[in-house]
Amino acid sequence: MSTYAAPLKDMRFVLNELAGLAEVAKLPGFEEATADTVDAILEEASKFAAGVLDPLNRPGDEQGSVWQDGAVAMPIGFRAAYRQFIEGGWNALPLDPDWGGQGLPKLVATPVEEMWIAANMSFSLCPLLTQGAIEALILRGSDHLKSTYLRKMVEGTWTGTMNLTEPQAGSDLSLVRTRAERRGDHYRIFGQKIFITYGEHDLADNILHLVLARTPDAPEGVRGISLFLVPKYLVRSDGSLGERNDLRCVSIEHKLGIHASPTAVMAFGDKGEGAVGYVVGEENKGLAYMFIMMNAARFGVGLEGVAIAERAYQRALAYAKERLQGKDLVEGAKTVPIIRHPDVRRMLMLMKAQTEAMRALAYVVAGAMDIARRHPDVAMRNRNQAFVDLMIPVVKGWSTETSIEVASLGIQVHGGMGFIEETGAAQHLRDARITTIYEGTTGIQANDLIGRKIAREGGATAKSYLEQLRQIDSELARSQHEDLRALRPHFAAGIQAVAESVDWLLATFDKDVRAAAAGSVPFLKLMGVVAGSWQMARAALVAEKKVAVLDGDEAFYRAKIATARFYGDHVLVQAPGLKNTVVGGASGVMALAEEQF
Ligand SMILES: Cc1cc2nc3c(=O)[nH]c(=O)nc-3n(C[C@H](O)[C@H](O)[C@H](O)COP(=O)(O)OP(=O)(O)OC[C@H]3O[C@@H](n4cnc5c(N)ncnc54)[C@H](O)[C@@H]3O)c2cc1C
Repeated sequence: MSTYAAPLKDMRFVLNELAGLAEVAKLPGFEEATADTVDAILEEASKFAAGVLDPLNRPGDEQGSVWQDGAVAMPIGFRAAYRQFIEGGWNALPLDPDWGGQGLPKLVATPVEEMWIAANMSFSLCPLLTQGAIEALILRGSDHLKSTYLRKMVEGTWTGTMNLTEPQAGSDLSLVRTRAERRGDHYRIFGQKIFITYGEHDLADNILHLVLARTPDAPEGVRGISLFLVPKYLVRSDGSLGERNDLRCVSIEHKLGIHASPTAVMAFGDKGEGAVGYVVGEENKGLAYMFIMMNAARFGVGLEGVAIAERAYQRALAYAKERLQGKDLVEGAKTVPIIRHPDVRRMLMLMKAQTEAMRALAYVVAGAMDIARRHPDVAMRNRNQAFVDLMIPVVKGWSTETSIEVASLGIQVHGGMGFIEETGAAQHLRDARITTIYEGTTGIQANDLIGRKIAREGGATAKSYLEQLRQIDSELARSQHEDLRALRPHFAAGIQAVAESVDWLLATFDKDVRAAAAGSVPFLKLMGVVAGSWQMARAALVAEKKVAVLDGDEAFYRAKIATARFYGDHVLVQAPGLKNTVVGGASGVMALAEEQF
């Protein structure tokens, strides 16, 4: 049975060599994020993930959370673990010191969050959603809302949710029907929400629901949606908990995965008087505010892809070293562990290489988020924000789609035992499967990528991003290392594939938006595959220098170089094919009339 061990070596390498931790630590307010402090945080977090969260993962999956009479009981051990989690200050790690947070950079919080997810994805969803709610309140909440709710949320004694979805309003939030009626200084909320993660549970004393709803005189569509804070328990003026609000969890869903995470159907205003709610920011601007939460949450879900891939890889690797089957192709004679077989190696390398590529991209984006928030130079902030905006759908869409592939390979490495729940490999695939759906499906991410992030700004950010890739390409061209020389033509072809696809999208989007949309998911994949290769190439170039001067762990650096080459030969090689699909594949997509299906 494999236990989770945080990949600290790779995390540190990416933080220091690729994502610019030293630069981030120079930003105002981040001075405490020195290499030593960050090391200590990572060590402690890895112990908590391995010692407290990982042992609850399997039992949590088996037991699931349980609904009874409107209340939800979490699986055994979750309450104690959550208490330890908040007492250890983990909830507050990246949050604003003004409200009791530790104010560490996003870049430092990212590997820590990766560990929580890898160890126990169901558990990690509760703090993820609370964080999103905190961000929305900090940016748009009134002083009263902030002073009433934020400290407890940052502490983690109260948790947050995101209530968007209704039966008729999923990807299309313009169809939201939940009603909010003005009553003096507050509102009364009526309606039903579905699929609400941690909408009800027994981990915290209060649950603050951020709810999208419409006032009676609101304009149609997305322009008429407002955001409300609706507490499970009303809060008295002295901060203590008062009456139970008119909202309840009607049921929770039975799902393919993340069994321990309660997915609630919520009814607001069932008793007739309506649930008391408070508007966040201004009326009718709710969707824009929700995007604040959604961007953070989309990044968080992308990180789920990285984490689940890592966990699936570790489990498959442990199995491949133990399972004896077949003879070595060359040495013959005795039965060997399956890791000796080239095809098993190929699968493990596909898992390892893609996971490392996704991790590096996610951390680089996290570092850019810090610069976009804190850098003293406005041009630098804007440039980094544009890069983050471009990459959020890629981190979300590509990392999650790839995590499903990686988790599925993990099952394949196990053979029949992968299909049997006992080994734990199947849970990763079941858990990973939601990540391409919530926080906007891959199709929705891809629409965002080609529309808002590329066509709307004439491809400016995409083109300056391509310049960064070209610089790495010229560094690769100067390398004498055999593996880097082998990677280079694939990398150059990858850059070319993205550049041609961007040009085609810019020329096509306004003329024939259906054709552009038909290739949007292949384009998102192309962006991910190439962005991953950018990071693998950077990693290999750093490793090449380290090996030359024998600086540090030679085996690790040599593995980085070999893994980058593998990524080029087995993953990046797809880039020109994906480009062909983007620019030439539209006609077949829409060719059939609906009756022909
Ligand atoms: C376990 C779980 C947890 C969740 N947690 C939360 C939560 O905490 N809060 C919350 O509010 N919601 C939550 N959701 C809801 C989730 O965000 C939605 O399921 C998701 O946004 C998709 O909406 P839908 O299910 O209605 O699918 P639909 O919108 O009906 O989509 C169905 C298919 O059509 C495609 N599609 C739809 N519109 C377009 C379009 N314009 N262009 C291209 N393709 C399109 C989609 O990509 C998808 O393949 C959760 C869902 C689940 C299953």
